This record gives sequence, structure tokens and C-alpha cells, in this order.
Amino acid sequence: MRLPLTWLSVTVLSQRTVVIFGASGDLSSRLLLPGLGSLLAGPRASAVRIIGTGRSSLAADDWTDRVRTAFASQGEIGPVAAETLATTQYVAGDPTDPAHLRALLELAGPAPVLYFSLPPAVATAIVETLQRVELPEGTELAFEKPFGTDAASAAALNKLVGSLVPEENVHRVDHFLGRTAVLNLIGLRFANRLFEPVWNAEHIESVEIVYDETLGLEGRAQYYDNAGALVDMIQSHLLLVLALLAMDAPATMDAVEVRSEMARALRSTRLYRGSGIEASRRARYTAGVAGGRVVPAYAGEAGVDPERETETLAEVTVEVGTNRWAGVPFTLRSGKALGVARKEIVIKFKPLRHLPSGLHGGRDGETLRIGLNPGELSLSVPALGVDGPYTMGQVFLDATLPSASVLPYGEVLNGILRGDPLLSVRGDVAERCWEIVEPVVAAWKADEVPLEEYEAGSDGPAEWQDLRESAA
Ligand code: NDP
Repeated sequence: MRLPLTWLSVTVLSQRTVVIFGASGDLSSRLLLPGLGSLLAGPRASAVRIIGTGRSSLAADDWTDRVRTAFASQGEIGPVAAETLATTQYVAGDPTDPAHLRALLELAGPAPVLYFSLPPAVATAIVETLQRVELPEGTELAFEKPFGTDAASAAALNKLVGSLVPEENVHRVDHFLGRTAVLNLIGLRFANRLFEPVWNAEHIESVEIVYDETLGLEGRAQYYDNAGALVDMIQSHLLLVLALLAMDAPATMDAVEVRSEMARALRSTRLYRGSGIEASRRARYTAGVAGGRVVPAYAGEAGVDPERETETLAEVTVEVGTNRWAGVPFTLRSGKALGVARKEIVIKFKPLRHLPSGLHGGRDGETLRIGLNPGELSLSVPALGVDGPYTMGQVFLDATLPSASVLPYGEVLNGILRGDPLLSVRGDVAERCWEIVEPVVAAWKADEVPLEEYEAGSDGPAEWQDLRESAA
């Protein structure tokens, strides 16, 4: 089955200057610059100018080497990437100093992109400083997640940012929106006679969105111990996947229409049948072997405060209170140091109400599995003849989505460079995602939901039997 890559249309990226704040950091070299490299290597490429900045004093050659290494990780450096490399520079300075910001803006020229690849509190401090600096017309601001630390702080930051540039020039980055498999939910649903007519509570029993990793903390305690699985994955990435799964068809594929439909779905989303206590579970891994590596107990990792009780496995069940979805549980789950890297959406269809008498065997309905990474599709359908001529079984129709050469960060950056916020999170959506999980955060803080344990490399706490059933 070939799916339309609806959002990945061929468009030319206009030349702009991108100022990367926090350029010396992990995100910049591990995700941002390789993402840009993958974009510059493709057919939509045109050279951009990159100015890295931060407090670190990096020699010009060191910075250019970093950018080159990141671009080279995406294959041979082509002419467009080479042009970008020839003009890139690094300017050291305190990002909260207005004089430094003015100098950067002058260097960057018209309509720059200011990309804040640094801790959220620092990004907020820069935005505060920018109130005292004149921004060029057409400036785009890009923020990394998390955007705020709760609904109130996200709203306050939105207000602050809104006083600088219009909403369509604000890009709250969530690279899940740049993943081919996630983008293709649009094509799979709205350009497809097979699924769209049955994409509702009448036909669908349950939906799961799962992102399980075998990786443990990987030295990121400073960030992760303050976030945990709930904020790191569910509050951001997985709720956006839910929005694309649950929304109604947009009138057009532009940012206004698509983001409005996503926002509408999320405004109708609330915890499934009640409070944060009934609708959530949490756990933390103990020592074990995951992904072929010895993983120490989370609570004993350097930089972790065990008293904080940060969860490494979180599950939240929500429902979407619309006619299309009322009563259908959407379970969002993500964990670290698990036995299997399971990253998929599982849509279970209801069995038919009646089977002709004389047919034997299971009465399971269809199950559609959509892989998030890589983009594999598997539809299991009831069929005869698996265990005998009148016995029902399941057969599997499998396909692999065409993989994109542009990395998710490259796809998101392409939108930012073109001034198109389609693949960025709208301000009200950022606030709404916090609102949805806040009752869970409160219940966990009050210790109303026990923090369970699972051995690293296992498939979760022994009591979570249903995890094993849904993985089948
Ligand atoms: P880092 O902690 O590595 O910080 C990035 C850079 O920010 C540092 O190199 C430092 O540069 C600068 N910085 C740090 N603290 C301060 C400070 N107090 N004042 C001024 N500058 C400071 O962050 P990451 O690169 O890991 O992440 C950046 C952002 O991206 C964060 O918001 C994070 O939440 C988000 N993110 C990160 C992911 C990742 O995998 N790393 C994944 C998804 C999101 P210098 O010292 O040169 O000024």
C-alpha cells in the first residue's frame, strides 16, 4: 500500500539567517544541525546562514567543524550545504544582554529566525530582554519543548511572546509533527475510503498510542528527573499524535485549518471516566539489562533525586468528548528501559455484532497498527481457513511507509524557514496539553497513585498484564 505524503509537498525554502541560541548544547549538535543537514541535502534545499551563539567561547574553526560533522552525518556534503558551511559563524556572548542581542540582530539582517535551543528558563529570560530590543519585521521565534511548566506558565509565556511577534511567527517545536509516520496519519485518514468511514466510536473499540524505549537515562538526569515520562512524552508528543488521530477533516491543508482542527480535538479531550487517580498509572525501573546493556536502577543514577519520585513509565487514558469518539478510551503510554522498543498506534476495531452460525473460532475485530518509528503498517483482519475451512483466524496485511530522507527536525525547520507554522504547536494547544494532564500531575504529587516498579529490560510492572496483551 502506498500512502500519499500529503504534507511533504515540494516547496522551496527561502534563504534566511537562523540564529541558534545555546548552539554549544546537546540538542543543537545531535538533532538540530543534522536535521538541517538532511534538509539541505534534499530537493527542497537552498542555502541558509547559521549564526551560533552562547556563552561558551568557541573558535570559529571548532564551530564550523561541528556544523560540518552534523551535515556529514546525513551523507556527502552537497553544494547547498557547502554554501551554508562557508558562511556560518559563531558569536560568543550572554544571550540575556540586550547589547549582545542587538549586535546579533544587526549581523543576522532582515527577517531572521531566532531558535532558542537552551533551557526553557533561559529562553524566557531572552524573550523578556527582547522587549527592550527592536525586532526586524518578519522575525520568527522558535521554542523547544517544554513550553512552560504548566498551563498557567505556558499562558504567561504565550502572552509575553505575543507582545513581540504575531502568533504565525511563533514556532513551538515538537519534532513528532515532522515524522513521516505521524504526518501520514492525515493521508491515511482523510484521503482513504477504507478507514475514514469507520474512524469513530461506532466501529472503534479502543486506541493506544505507545512509545516504549529500551534506552535508560543516558546521562540526561538533569533534564529527565525534572520532567519524567509524563511531561517528556505524553504531555507533548503523544497528545499531538492523539489530536491528529481524533480530529475532523480540515477544510484545507494550511496551518490555520489543520491547527484549528487539532485544537478542537484537544479541547474535547479529558481524562477517561474521571480523575487523575483512575485514569493513570506510573512506575520506575530498577536495575536490569535493557537493549543489551546493563542499566542501573533509576533511583541510583547520578543526578537523580530519588525523593522526587520521577516516573520512567507513565500511562494516561483519555477520551475525546465528541460525537465521533464518545466512550472510546485512548491510552497514551511511554516508558524507558523496557524490554522491547515498541513505538506504535494500535487501533482496535469492534467485532461484528453477529457471525453466521457454523463459523467457529475467535470473534476479534480488525486491529490496525501504525508504527511511529519506522513507519510500518499492519492490519490484522478476520479470515477463514487459518485453522480449518470454517474456523475464523486473523491474517496480517503488512506494509512499510516510504521513508523520508529529511529528518523530523529538518521537516520542522523547513516550515520555520518558510514562515509556515503548520508543523509547529499553536499557543492555545500548548496550554491545552498542560491542562489535560494537570489532574494527573496533581494526583501523583499527592501520592494518590502508587509509584510502582519494574525491572529494566522487562515489559513493565508485573501487575500491568494488559501491556503484554496489547503488544501481541
Ligand atoms: P543544554 O542543557 O545542553 O543547554 C544548551 C545550551 O544552553 C548550553 O550549551 C549552554 O550554552 C546554554 N545554557 C545552558 N544554561 C544556560 C544558562 N543558565 N544561561 C544561558 N545559557 C545557558 O540543553 P539541550 O541542548 O539538551 O536542550 C536545549 C533545549 O531543547 C531544552 O529546552 C530542552 O528541553 C530541549 N530538548 C532537548 C532535547 C535533547 O535531546 N537534548 C530533546 C528535546 C527537547 P553556553 O554555555 O554556551 O551558553
